Amino acid sequence: MLIDHQRLTTFITEIFVASGATHPVALEVADHLVTANLKGHDSHGVGMVPAYVANIRAGHLAVDAHARVVRDNGAVLLVDGGTGFGQVVGREATDLALERVRQTGVVCVGVRNCHHLGRIGAYGERCGAAGYVSVHFVNVVGHAPQVSPFGGRERRMTTNPFCCVVPRHAAPPLVLDMATSAIALGKVRVAHMKGESVPEGALVDHEGLPTTDPAVMYREPFGALGPFGLHKGYGLAVMCELLGGALAGEWTAQPDNPRAGTIINHMLMFVLDPAAFGGLERFQNEVEAMTGYLHSTTPAKGFDRVRVPGEPELESMAARRAGGVPVDDNTWAGILKSAEVAGLDVATVQRLTG
Ligand code: NAD
Repeated sequence: MLIDHQRLTTFITEIFVASGATHPVALEVADHLVTANLKGHDSHGVGMVPAYVANIRAGHLAVDAHARVVRDNGAVLLVDGGTGFGQVVGREATDLALERVRQTGVVCVGVRNCHHLGRIGAYGERCGAAGYVSVHFVNVVGHAPQVSPFGGRERRMTTNPFCCVVPRHAAPPLVLDMATSAIALGKVRVAHMKGESVPEGALVDHEGLPTTDPAVMYREPFGALGPFGLHKGYGLAVMCELLGGALAGEWTAQPDNPRAGTIINHMLMFVLDPAAFGGLERFQNEVEAMTGYLHSTTPAKGFDRVRVPGEPELESMAARRAGGVPVDDNTWAGILKSAEVAGLDVATVQRLTG
């Protein structure tokens, strides 16, 4: 089905309100999730609602928690999320970083113990829109690992996203925002929900043999998701685990730490002011020249044009704002079930979804 993004946002907001969140918090989370769908990342969109509602009910997600500064060393801040919505805590931590970087030129913020941060690009884009560069290393804990290390069969980490954002003059920022697994786990979930295969090279079965069947991630004997880019992607995933997990969160995927079946993200975020270097204008002139140089590349066979990171999401957003957000039947059934679990009655759901 296709659903209008505003109608979808209102419906998801009401599910979170019925789950105990205040309206502003519920709206912020719903808006973040629907924006992920608009940007083409259904893996991190409204399909996450059932997991969030289940985690609220299990006591794993504190709907009223906000970012709390536990250490302030000037250019270094440590923020605890109290297992609150990552979308709220992550945005609040980003705002603290933006406030501080105006004084210090560079700031490093550790964000620990928040529930799923969702699309990491959301925090980078906030920095980029304010004219700052940002770099984000994130790990994912709270449940069993799903990603195997390069050369290994068993699961040792999760999809550990990395993000880097560069502001542009009079244009949206360049946004590199990606899982360090071969594909995002949510994309495996979406393929599983739709009964589709995943691209070759992303999954191995329990014997370490390549497979395109997403079911190996959901039924025993379990397979694993591999890292992107062989040893290099694996190396970046390790650094996300150690910088986001060990440094910011003091909680990595190693088995001495708890795995209660929730989703916890830790993020180490650097924000840099171009004015502390040669200045915003000179930096952006060079960014524009380089971006134009990349765009001028003749497309290879099978490609329409060369893009820079962040452009596919802008194209998706324009198309989905106009034409609606596609939601597959299994995902929609899961969302309707969570609305019921949260306590919304059938008439209210019908009114909200049309
Ligand atoms: P992806 O593979 O779709 O895109 C990765 C990056 O490549 C993006 O920056 C995109 O703009 C860029 N890109 C794609 N096609 C391009 C092209 N033709 N030319 C130039 N650049 C191009 O993303 P993904 O790895 O599936 O990640 C999806 C989302 O999942 C991200 O928003 C990420 O933050 C999120 N995520 C979150 C968590 C978490 O725990 N919170 C974990 C993993 C992933």
